[in-house]
Amino acid sequence: MKIALFSAKSYDREFFDNCPGLTDHSITYFEVALNAQTVNLATGFDAICVFVNDVVDRSAITRLVAMNVKVVALRCAGFNNVDLESVHELGLTIVRVPAYSPQAVAEHAVAMMMTLNRQTHRAYNRVRDGNFSIEHLTGFNLYGKTIGVIGTGLIGHCFCNIMLGFGCHVIAYDIYENEQLKNKGVVYKPLESIFKESDIISLHCPLNESTAHLISAKSIEQMKKGVMLINTSRGGLLNTKDAIAGLKHGKLGYLGIDVYEQEANLFFKDLSGVIMQDEIMARLMSFPNVLITGHMGFFTKEALTEIAHITLQNLTDFENNTPLKNEVRFAE
Ligand code: NAD
Repeated sequence: MKIALFSAKSYDREFFDNCPGLTDHSITYFEVALNAQTVNLATGFDAICVFVNDVVDRSAITRLVAMNVKVVALRCAGFNNVDLESVHELGLTIVRVPAYSPQAVAEHAVAMMMTLNRQTHRAYNRVRDGNFSIEHLTGFNLYGKTIGVIGTGLIGHCFCNIMLGFGCHVIAYDIYENEQLKNKGVVYKPLESIFKESDIISLHCPLNESTAHLISAKSIEQMKKGVMLINTSRGGLLNTKDAIAGLKHGKLGYLGIDVYEQEANLFFKDLSGVIMQDEIMARLMSFPNVLITGHMGFFTKEALTEIAHITLQNLTDFENNTPLKNEVRFAE
């Protein structure tokens, strides 16, 4: 198939060009994101390949169908950026990569947690400046602490396993309980109990209507003073303004985010020479107890290899009329 790959970065080229599955296809890489202004670049292609911040809304879908693009391959797990109702109505196929390396994201969540706790981000800067003082860098033992996990799917499951290995009490909330995790000692509780009892809360559920702003002033109010919150899932799960208020009052003791509500304007771009226009991000960046990474939880060699492999396999299956195990369907 002729594939137009949007939001292309050097690592996309590296891993897709080296993927054995590419022999069946040809890829043209476009650095721009897919949106109403750029959608015409897909003219003459059979398929497009997009990432987390490409906007597959009704207007893009209408244009894609009109130019005879047949399939959109998401090279990610989440699909909150796709208008599935319009896809269903206008007759486009959407495939995704449901799991490529849940360990990669879970390990990144743990890395954020460890950095915030032991303040290695601050220690690193001090030492580089010749300052070997450890004043005000006190952390806490993870052993014996209560970790609240919201969403125990593929990534949440891995995260629970790691936390159990640290000797933590792991409590969880999910709309479906996982028996394997229960047998290992994870205790499922209502959401309110997760908020009230946890020393650290890590979000691993998808963004949808029921989870949007799951963490807001109301939920933060119920949490322990000084709680640590980690979000490697989707920015929209967290009301960022409420999180800033919580940080200012000391209710939130630490915040680690790999995702951000307005990330489409910032993430995956080098804006180091540009004046920051996003006041909320600017405020977040000013807190010493906030750690921000630019949506890189997935970013390991293993995950990139899997993403390229599964994306191209999805397109080969589509071309061969093989049943699509990774199709995203509209739930009516
Ligand atoms: P998954 O589908 O395997 O697991 C999601 C879990 O959330 C499921 O167990 C589901 O039952 C649960 N859930 C659904 N609605 C819920 C609700 N209202 N409350 C609590 N739990 C609920 O997905 P996954 O592979 O574990 O991925 C989780 C999320 O991580 C994705 O939706 C995606 O947004 C995010 N993600 C981030 C990165 C990154 O690089 N930071 C990479 C991949 C995925």
